[in-house]
Amino acid sequence: MAIPTKVEVTEVGPRDGIQAEPNFIPTEEKIRLVNALIDAGVPRIEFSSFVSPRAVPQLADVAEVLKGVDRTKGTVLSALVPNARGAIRAAEAGVDEIIVFMSASESHNLKNVNRTVEESLVGFEEVARIMGDAGIPVHGAIATAFGCPFEGEVPVEQLGRIAQRYIDMGFQGIGLGDTTGMATPPRVTKNVRHLRGIMGEVPLGLHFHNTRGIGLCNVMAGLDEGVTHYDASFAGLGGCPFVPKASGNICTEDLVFLLHEMGIETGIDLRKLMSIANEVEQVIGRDLPGQVMKAGLLSDLHPMEDVKTAVG
Ligand code: ZN
Repeated sequence: MAIPTKVEVTEVGPRDGIQAEPNFIPTEEKIRLVNALIDAGVPRIEFSSFVSPRAVPQLADVAEVLKGVDRTKGTVLSALVPNARGAIRAAEAGVDEIIVFMSASESHNLKNVNRTVEESLVGFEEVARIMGDAGIPVHGAIATAFGCPFEGEVPVEQLGRIAQRYIDMGFQGIGLGDTTGMATPPRVTKNVRHLRGIMGEVPLGLHFHNTRGIGLCNVMAGLDEGVTHYDASFAGLGGCPFVPKASGNICTEDLVFLLHEMGIETGIDLRKLMSIANEVEQVIGRDLPGQVMKAGLLSDLHPMEDVKTAVG
């Protein structure tokens, strides 16, 4: 499989990153950040979620955010939808696309959404019907696709079974998620190869967290298998601020930097993305893990006289 020459990056920071923030980010700030991402050429943005506003007050303003963003540039604005009620709200708001999600492992799915795997799949049939009537495409995410913190390694057959059900429901894309950061390059290779046999032409996306510091190594494994869709979060925002060891998604600027250095096109203006990451840090009010935003690009040379010569 040849390494792709073009990759589609989905910015998930406004949803996956911001949802974990304890302090409410004002709606205008969210709109400003999403519009800046659109201006930087990001092709797809997971901008918020139609979860219960009581469960996640941070994202209760999803419909207002959508109203405020620039929809003239063709950027795909997608939102997470947990159930039929969320699907009705998403259809009313007129999102471009929705994503449903479940965990591949029974115990994590019960813990996360209080449903068995089968109950989640049955629930998605209603979601698919609502979105079908509204003419809005549905993508399906499979979380804990690379390992479950309660059950360990997740059998590829289980991923294949869920992917097949997604395809049967007419989903237009499938993503493998690694929320708990258990992916490794060999697991990526194994899962992607298995799913490709089932998915045919349906696009496969990869969603890595940098929990164990190998998020971009997992991207490299995905690229080796020809995968062209990756999620990432601006400035590496994500995880839970109350759990110091829970790190967030791989960082969008770091990912785009890597892709561009490999000669892979993204259509994204990396300089603009880096300045957005700095804004995100200001909005959030603490240091974030993004590295390219701090170190700069390779072409950012330093005047020699500014640098002290190291001794030893
Ligand atoms: Zn995530």
